[in-house]
Amino acid sequence: MKLAKRVSALTPSSTLAITAKAKELKAAGHDVIGLGAGEPDFNTPQHILEASVKAMNEGQTKYTPAGGLMPLKDAIIEKFNRDQSLTYKPSEVIVCSGAKHALYTLFQVILDEGDEVIIPTPYWVSYPEQVKLAEGTPVYVEGSENNEFKITPAQLESVITNKTKAVILNSPSNPTGMIYTREELEAIGEVCLKHNVLIVSDEIYEKLVYDGAEHVSIAELSPALKEQTIIINGVSKSHSMTGWRIGYAAGNETIIKAMTNLASHSTSNPTSIAQYATIAAYNGTQEPVEMMRKAFEERLNVMHKQLNDIPGFSCLKPQGAFYLFPNAIEAARLTGFETVDAWVEAILEEEKVALVPGSGFGSPENVRLSYATSLELLEKAVARIASFMARHM
Ligand code: PLP
Repeated sequence: MKLAKRVSALTPSSTLAITAKAKELKAAGHDVIGLGAGEPDFNTPQHILEASVKAMNEGQTKYTPAGGLMPLKDAIIEKFNRDQSLTYKPSEVIVCSGAKHALYTLFQVILDEGDEVIIPTPYWVSYPEQVKLAEGTPVYVEGSENNEFKITPAQLESVITNKTKAVILNSPSNPTGMIYTREELEAIGEVCLKHNVLIVSDEIYEKLVYDGAEHVSIAELSPALKEQTIIINGVSKSHSMTGWRIGYAAGNETIIKAMTNLASHSTSNPTSIAQYATIAAYNGTQEPVEMMRKAFEERLNVMHKQLNDIPGFSCLKPQGAFYLFPNAIEAARLTGFETVDAWVEAILEEEKVALVPGSGFGSPENVRLSYATSLELLEKAVARIASFMARHM
């Protein structure tokens, strides 16, 4: 069977691939420590679970409006108001089956063949593939390590053409954990307004910020920037709800309406009971969110120090999300490997520690370690990496 052109060049998600490989080794009886996870290791908070059970028992198991239940849109609108002082109408919000699907639907409705989307590197693995699936062209701009993996307004301006449709901002970032400051966002926003470039602001890690860092949405900086921005967010990371598949987009009414039309012919709606759970997530106590954030911060502090103590590792201190993204090219070369990819493979093979090579994020000298696992396992993983290094050097 000859497959369609649009999927023939599609690469499987490298993060899911490494997680699958680690699970395979585990199933074969190996003591594998997986640091590839892109999801919190905590259970979904109890009051959220109870809300979904209640919804089920009350028969809320039918189709919902394609763009999401009105009480959920209200809860999301209230959340924007509370956290960013942003005001949206229900017609400016769509609930989707995860933030990933919100992004997918967005690119489908804004891109025509050859339209360019600027993607800062390192990037989250799905951005380029989703842009290509919508027949768009990814244009990469390097967020260099000595600028904390962030792009500058001048860099952005230098790649804008008459085909540029949008730029993706992801702050806090997966994989780097870096956060754009208010001033940096203002300067980038100015460039986007000047050239009429839509800003796709992926804020899924909004709640996971450390050491007093502040998450700022570019949309909150001015009414003009709000109109220029589509915010993507969801409850996967903030409320440990990855499996529930609820995310959303907020912004320009015409775009949201087109996304809702497309959703009506693709998903019909996000799962009804997961929507009820999300209403509880936003309207209920936010204490579990803070509890998880604190646990992540503690792990970050321990891990960051221990990693930097390993020869050949140089790791900027992330300000958010739950990943460390050290430069490991020196570590790879010290142990006789030409590439970080090969080095990562050897560590999985010999030490049974699963890391994600930076190549999948457009940054082949780095490696991503997720600290969404217990401190005990994290420390064990670092000890294994250190012993691998000592043995090969
Ligand atoms: N955006 C980024 C940067 C992510 O890391 C992820 C998940 O890994 C998503 C979006 C998708 O989240 P969701 O589970 O809501 O689809």
